[in-house]
Amino acid sequence: MGSQFGETGVDVAGPGARPALHGSKARASARLSSCRRERGPAVVVVILLGPPGVGKGTQGAWLAERAGARYVATGDLLRAACREGTELGRRAQGYMDRGELVPDGLIIELVRQVLSGLSPDTGVVFDGFPRTVPQADMLASVLGDVDRQVDRVIVLEADDEVLLRRMAGRRSCRDCGAVYNIHFNAPRKAGACDRCGGELARRRDDDPATVRRRLKVYRKDTMPLIQFYLGTSARLEQVAADRPVDKVRDALQEVTGT
Ligand code: ADP
Ligand code: ZN
Repeated sequence: MGSQFGETGVDVAGPGARPALHGSKARASARLSSCRRERGPAVVVVILLGPPGVGKGTQGAWLAERAGARYVATGDLLRAACREGTELGRRAQGYMDRGELVPDGLIIELVRQVLSGLSPDTGVVFDGFPRTVPQADMLASVLGDVDRQVDRVIVLEADDEVLLRRMAGRRSCRDCGAVYNIHFNAPRKAGACDRCGGELARRRDDDPATVRRRLKVYRKDTMPLIQFYLGTSARLEQVAADRPVDKVRDALQEVTGT
């Protein structure tokens, strides 16, 4: 990992360092960044785990914004690389289209780059990373180099039936990547992005056969991370995500104290 991250003197707050929260204003300003200790400002590392379609993106972006943290979604970064036609994008595209994992080596390189660009005092919410035990090992070692660790792991859960339905209705903007759902969160104008007016399309890997493969891959390669993190000092929370977005948000707020 780049030295920039190492020079920040950041710290992952332990349970004792969590702020006492009183009221929403206090919560908003407390956020993750207030978990300070003598050693310097805090970087709290949060990982969102969960199957495809469970809402990691929707909740993760919100959580990061609320916490003043950086939202790092490897899927979004990979799709941007594909759109831009970079070397990484070209190498990753086939795996993504088939619903397979992009090889660890590529992902690790990508995440190293992101982390090396982090400024001091930045928390991180990871969505879609780590997805395999080698990726989790890499993250632990990168954080360990700067005397830090994963602080929280939040597991979002929903049945396959719910996930399949959600992904069937999911549409995303070709230009900015904003995500909609024609059933639950439709854009104001059908087929057009509220944010930038871009064309909405189904993600290439959201067809039912590919979705089923992604669910299998999740169970085989990513679910073991729950066990992995149970063996670390990270705080692990499970949140039922087969509910409307705001209800899941409330539950997240409760478990994270944000
Ligand atoms: P979802 O969680 O809905 O499957 P993502 O946007 O997180 O969607 O990921 C889409 C695809 O990008 C995955 O199916 C996989 O091919 C690739 N990908 C994203 N993150 C990783 C990762 N950490 N390791 C390997 N492949 C990844
Ligand atoms: Zn858009």
